[in-house]
Amino acid sequence: MSCQSHEELEQFVEQARPKANQGRIADYIPALGKANPTDLSIAIEYPNGRCISAGDVERRFTLQSISKVITLALALMDNGREVVFDHVGMEPTGDPFNSIAKLETNKPAKPLNPMINAGALVVTHLIKGDSVDERLNRILSFIRELANDESIDYSKEIAQSEYDTADLNRSLSYFLKEHHHITEDVDQLIDLYTKQCAIEMNCLNLARIGMIFAEDGKDPHTQTQIMPESIARLCKTFMVTCGMYNASGEFAIKIGIPAKSGVSGGIMGSVPHRFGIGIFGPALDDVGNSIAGLELLELLSSNYKLSMF
Ligand code: GLN
Repeated sequence: MSCQSHEELEQFVEQARPKANQGRIADYIPALGKANPTDLSIAIEYPNGRCISAGDVERRFTLQSISKVITLALALMDNGREVVFDHVGMEPTGDPFNSIAKLETNKPAKPLNPMINAGALVVTHLIKGDSVDERLNRILSFIRELANDESIDYSKEIAQSEYDTADLNRSLSYFLKEHHHITEDVDQLIDLYTKQCAIEMNCLNLARIGMIFAEDGKDPHTQTQIMPESIARLCKTFMVTCGMYNASGEFAIKIGIPAKSGVSGGIMGSVPHRFGIGIFGPALDDVGNSIAGLELLELLSSNYKLSMF
């Protein structure tokens, strides 16, 4: 994959990088704690194949919550809207991504949206296949097609590290099983979910996936519709309303594009019909978003007039 280093982007990266000193690396998944807090990189991929970048764009990181958008698309393709939204809602929560609170107070008892952990666990549960391996391979094949990179795989070390410490996600899953939104064995689901979250890529891959969403699910090079247009649009809508956890409102005001973050420090942006963005900066703010990544996106949004609103 060729992507050209871009002078202005490099300047934005250097301007945003010091912000990382005010953030913290997520270490509740112990293996994530090894990242270098001041890493910061960005790639922008256009539908015509042009790609511009800054920073160490080959550095690999795990998708974590960014994978939730992709499994949502696959679960919708597998089951249709009616089944999926029988088990997960469409409203932002205002709570942290791993909160258990609203599961009990929301009536009927189902997760409020697919971008919080409770909702994402239900969505992963809905991915079809006869075994964890088969379901994981389906998720991986879909991601490889979106990224146009057959080498994408998951990190065994990070998946295992999360599996060993996923007590809260197990609690969410047991609660959801009690309410019949999950019917499989919880450890089996956590096995699949932690592997999905540990899928590894770099900013170039992430920018390309963001570009496919920006193009409503179509690969502009081959004209293949990788996912139906209606599903790509639905996913982008969730990215706007819930993609940056409980900071999605402020993000919509300050930056104004569909985006999804993960606790490893990745952010995927999708500027409709313009380009895809992949960012990696592992130091996080209090909510769990890449702190320097947000600063960088603010610079981009104001300089390149990205806001959709
Ligand atoms: N794997 C992580 C978890 O479930 C994903 C969370 C995130 O990126 N916010 O805790």
